[in-house]
Amino acid sequence: MKKELVIMSAVGFCKNCFRSRRQGSAYCGECRDEASRMKIYKDDRNEFPLLDKVVERFELTLKDLENVIFTYGDTLYSDRDLSLGLQAHELTHVFQQLKMGVKEWWEKYLSDDEFRLSQELEAYQRQYQVLKEKNVVTAKMDATRTAGDLSSKMYGGIIEFEEARMLIMGADTAGLRRIITAVDEAIV
Ligand SMILES: [Zn+2]
Ligand SMILES: [Zn+2]
Repeated sequence: MKKELVIMSAVGFCKNCFRSRRQGSAYCGECRDEASRMKIYKDDRNEFPLLDKVVERFELTLKDLENVIFTYGDTLYSDRDLSLGLQAHELTHVFQQLKMGVKEWWEKYLSDDEFRLSQELEAYQRQYQVLKEKNVVTAKMDATRTAGDLSSKMYGGIIEFEEARMLIMGADTAGLRRIITAVDEAIV
C-alpha cells in the first residue's frame, strides 16, 4: 500500500531539493515556499511500474528481488523497511529522476551502461557519506558489500569490484575515475 515515507533526518537532504540541509532544519534554507515541499512515498515492490522490464533486462531472480529497491519519481518500491543508508541511496535516485524526467531517466538507465554507472556511483557515494557520519568502520564494511552489488550482474556487470569500492569511498572520485579510465585506455 502506498504510504508517505518518513525520511530520517540523518540522510541530510533538504526536503525540497538535493541540496544539503541547514543545521537544525529539514530544509536547505533556500526553499521557503511551503507549497513546493516535497513528499516521498513508499509502495509495495510489485507496484513498481517497470518491474517486468527491469527483471528481464537484468535477469533478476526472485532472490535478487527480495533485496532490491526500485525508485520511480517520488515513490520507492520495496517490501522492506529502509535503513538510513538505503534511504540516502534511493533519495539520490529520486532527485536524479526529477531533475531529468522520470521516463527519460529510466530509459537511459536501462540502455546506457555509463549512465547507469554514474547514477549508481552517486547514490552509493551518498550512502557511504551518510553512514560515515555515524561510524567509519561500518561505513567501510557497507561500501565493501555495496561494491559487490555494483559489480554484480544485477547492474549489468559495469565495473570491477575493487574499482567500485574505491570510487564509492573516494573523495576525489572524478579524478580517480579519470586515472582509471586513462589506465584502461593505456592497456587497450
Ligand atoms: Zn532546498
Ligand atoms: Zn541505486
